[in-house]
Amino acid sequence: MDPKFPDKVSLAFLPTPIEPLERLSRHLGGPEIWVKRDDQTGLATGGNKARKLEFLVADALAQGADHLVTTGAPQSNHARQTAAAAARFGLGCSLILRGQEPATPTGNFLLDQLLGAHVYWCAPRDCNDTASRVMGELRAIGRRPYFIPLGGSNVIGATGYVLAMRELMEQTEAAHLNFDFTVFASSSGGTQAGLVLGACAFGFRGTVLGISVDHPADSLKTQVAALTTATATHIGLDALSVADMVNINDDYIGDGYAHVGETEREAIKLMAQVEGILLDPVYTGRAFGGLIDLIRWGAFTRGQRVLFWHTGGTAALPAFAERLL
Ligand SMILES: *Cc1c(COP(=O)(O)O)cnc(C)c1O
Repeated sequence: MDPKFPDKVSLAFLPTPIEPLERLSRHLGGPEIWVKRDDQTGLATGGNKARKLEFLVADALAQGADHLVTTGAPQSNHARQTAAAAARFGLGCSLILRGQEPATPTGNFLLDQLLGAHVYWCAPRDCNDTASRVMGELRAIGRRPYFIPLGGSNVIGATGYVLAMRELMEQTEAAHLNFDFTVFASSSGGTQAGLVLGACAFGFRGTVLGISVDHPADSLKTQVAALTTATATHIGLDALSVADMVNINDDYIGDGYAHVGETEREAIKLMAQVEGILLDPVYTGRAFGGLIDLIRWGAFTRGQRVLFWHTGGTAALPAFAERLL
């Protein structure tokens, strides 16, 4: 069966480029490393949420919504790109961020405000309640709010990454290339679910490997497998048995979400100083740090080709300044 993709709006510059990292590959002395530049999608700097929001915003508009509501961490890239998508379509935007308002607005939180979003702060366990309350208040004043879950990771958002895998297959076929692995940061699971499903649907033969940023591998794997199956149904594909295609490495969680340590610092500086490419402190710094470590441990052979899928997040860098230098 061929997949049937729902309508989407246009928010991202696509296709994003793929490029070889020749200096870095030589420096690390392992496999040939390439990068997929989803940090260059555009949408108030760029990142993986742009592809998800193309489908989420289309669904919101189809339902007659006039306001987007979502939740995330204080430096959420998803929140910032949701605020930008709302602005682009003349929708209101409310963001429920977990934690306490920082003394100085910086990074994504600064951009959220410049993009015109209303920001609410919540204690970690109250965020869903706060979101429900905000939705209720918006309805009470006659608005039509549309809720987007954490990271945009439902079947609608994940569909963006099914198409991203098709895009990659078109690029690799045109260039007569093939990748043995694609490696990327995985957290709420929508990116990985879409890539796994896209790999099944469009015949990517390599291993799709998510580096977990925060969750233990077993729980993230269960979540990604369920979302992959549900997304298959959403786009009219037969329910596939995908559990053995969901590969997750949780060795690099360190002190937990957004705790920047030596892994992230080394990865960010190496990529910046050898290739002139910026990684982010929370996701891609950790995932690329993991990839460097796997290379050092000999997880790949020299002839292999590895695609690092850069998912964005660089707008958060200033917020982590003192941990990075
Ligand atoms: C959200 C995010 C991810 C993780 O994507 P999920 O679909 O939530 O797993 C990775 N990198 C960056 C920069 C992100 O903002």
